[in-house]
Amino acid sequence: MKMLLPISLLLASVSAPHLMAAEAKNAAAEVFPTAAELAKMSDADRHAQAARTEVWTPVPTVVSAPQSGVPSDAINLIGADLSQWQSVNSQGSAGWQLKDGVLTVVPGTGDIRTKASFCDVQLHVEWRSPPADPTKKGQQRNNSGIFLQEKYEVQILDSYQNETYPNGQAGAIYKQKMPLVNAMRPTGEWQIYDIIYQAPRFNGQKRLSPGFVTVLHNGVVVQNHSEIAGTTEWIGHPQQPVHGCAPIKLQDHGDKVSFRNIWLRKLD
Ligand code: MG
Repeated sequence: MKMLLPISLLLASVSAPHLMAAEAKNAAAEVFPTAAELAKMSDADRHAQAARTEVWTPVPTVVSAPQSGVPSDAINLIGADLSQWQSVNSQGSAGWQLKDGVLTVVPGTGDIRTKASFCDVQLHVEWRSPPADPTKKGQQRNNSGIFLQEKYEVQILDSYQNETYPNGQAGAIYKQKMPLVNAMRPTGEWQIYDIIYQAPRFNGQKRLSPGFVTVLHNGVVVQNHSEIAGTTEWIGHPQQPVHGCAPIKLQDHGDKVSFRNIWLRKLD
């Protein structure tokens, strides 16, 4: 004989397929008073009903967040030296210049990456283009980039009055998604990226979910939980390699782009 599921349980499983069967069953079992029934209740009884959906544990960790500072649980990636970074090419010391807390690309020394690996992060990066060279246009004008997990580039480019393909301008997921708007400050001013990154999920060789990224450029949303199709290739389609946590990489594209106040918070 065929067993019929209660309609409420059926609806729960259709509208929220991610719920496990037991969770769906519990959700279906939760019955709350109607508005008319609540109206007849005492205050104490109404509060008792309200308490059924209150969650008291666990309590979120306290993080101090000063007005013009770094959150207390952040990892500061630019300290007194570049000991947290290494050269991608040699895997030795990072060859970029660090002076008065400002890190600057030394063209030709190659990309640098953090020694530590990260998965989901909130990443804060301030960057600045040197004065624009009028002979350089488009992608050649003060290009760099932040590679999440070494693979997915949030483009850095002097996109102030500088035409290029929009899915390659500042704030783009390179060659995949152009920024919603161009929030550039003039060349030479500090730009701020605040990036919220959710890494792709894998189970063995199978990708369960792509990565997603939200980017604020100078406080303006330019990527809104954008899906990352795969690696950000200059030529060709995105690739989808299986990987775990990985470093943050900064690009040497031959321009003296500077960085300061790079910090991140782990979100996993
Ligand atoms: Mg770049």
